[in-house]
Amino acid sequence: MQLYQLLYKSTATEDFKIEFLENFVSEIALKNKKHGITGCLLYDGTHFLQILEGKYTTLSQLMDVIESDQRHTEIVMLLKEPIVEREYINWSMRSVETDASAMTCITSQYEDVANLLSLKRRKDNYLSRADLILNAFLNGEWSNRQLDFIYSFAKPPSKIKSSKLIVENTYPYYFAFQPIIDIVAMEASCIEVLIRGPNGESPENVLGGLDPNELHTLDVDSKMTSLAMMAELEFEGYVSINLLPMSLLEVPYAIERISHQAYKLGIPPDKVVIEITEQELIDNIEKFLELVNLIRVHGMKLAIDDFGAGYAGLSLLANFQPHKIKIDRSIITGVANDGPREAIIESVIHCAHRLGIEVIAEGVENENDLKWLIASGITKFQGYYFAKPKFQALPEINWPKFLTT
Ligand code: C2E
Ligand code: MN
Ligand code: MN
Repeated sequence: MQLYQLLYKSTATEDFKIEFLENFVSEIALKNKKHGITGCLLYDGTHFLQILEGKYTTLSQLMDVIESDQRHTEIVMLLKEPIVEREYINWSMRSVETDASAMTCITSQYEDVANLLSLKRRKDNYLSRADLILNAFLNGEWSNRQLDFIYSFAKPPSKIKSSKLIVENTYPYYFAFQPIIDIVAMEASCIEVLIRGPNGESPENVLGGLDPNELHTLDVDSKMTSLAMMAELEFEGYVSINLLPMSLLEVPYAIERISHQAYKLGIPPDKVVIEITEQELIDNIEKFLELVNLIRVHGMKLAIDDFGAGYAGLSLLANFQPHKIKIDRSIITGVANDGPREAIIESVIHCAHRLGIEVIAEGVENENDLKWLIASGITKFQGYYFAKPKFQALPEINWPKFLTT
């Protein structure tokens, strides 16, 4: 059975005294020894950080027990990977209070805390990932962000004005509509328009299998319909439309046509957001940047869609800065209990903030993730938790109780 190393952080549900932790640790030390588990436990007065090493199945069983322990909550997995040999085998079972950071350190064998803090104990000064994470924890880089609801309490949620629907489709294309929620304004600030087949078929169904020429033409043509429908639905916020970068590059006057259609329908072009991903290779970046500027010249906005989903990544962002980035669902889902996602999202927020780019979290499906995202500073959300896309109509919004009471 493979040896594994596992690190998690969690939040204490009460104020633990050092004596209690000492007892607690000597209790579990016996059990852990029996099960071949080594490691250490740190407590900074609010958070726990635990490193565990042992056989995979034993560790998994132990995690089940740890997860149901009422003395802590908000368990965030930071590391779980195979190791060749134990790194924390010699750490002693004792508790120490360090004056530097008031860190309580409970390890599984005698060791100098100064060594722990400086992490210089290993030969050749090599630091493992566990060491580095531990160091980050000691520097407070894994401490919780505080939920700040002050602004969101101020306003009751506004309804989407009409729950209007497209009764009779006189258009050549079909769409579903999904809101982007602004929790500061407590309203749907934007509606994203998603292509569908006549019976609600998926975008892949509609767009897949077309040759590139047909695809790009349809992509642009269908936007005339999405804007017409939005005008018919009488929504006054932003309208987000999806386009492949190559559609904008290949179809003559694509941007002019979109902007003109919006203008004709009484939708101010600055309310139109063009969402693009890097799904297709953009081999002519110069030409693409010209196009980005043309969108700006027409007063429309640009969003990078599915940011972080493999295609739409850092090099795209390095080359041009859009108005908005939409962080992909694959990174958002599960963030409340996942260290790597937490670290990535915080960095993206930090980077976007410095560059004056608005951040939207896509694919929010549950309350824990939403709370975490709010605490990290995101105020705009799209996801099933608030509303699923509705075929040919504006959906109702589900407002979470914790935001509205
Ligand atoms: P997208 O632009 O990222 O649109 C969001 C997709 O995520 C939608 O799928 C939506 O239903 C789904 N979604 C939103 N919130 C959640 C959630 O909480 N959980 C889950 N599991 N899914 C969620 P949909 O409508 O199937 O669209 C898929 C993709 O098709 C879109 O991704 C977009 O890239 C593309 N697409 C849609 N319409 C057009 C179009 O007119 N032109 C082009 N070129 N692409 C389009
Ligand atoms: Mn999109
Ligand atoms: Mn997306």
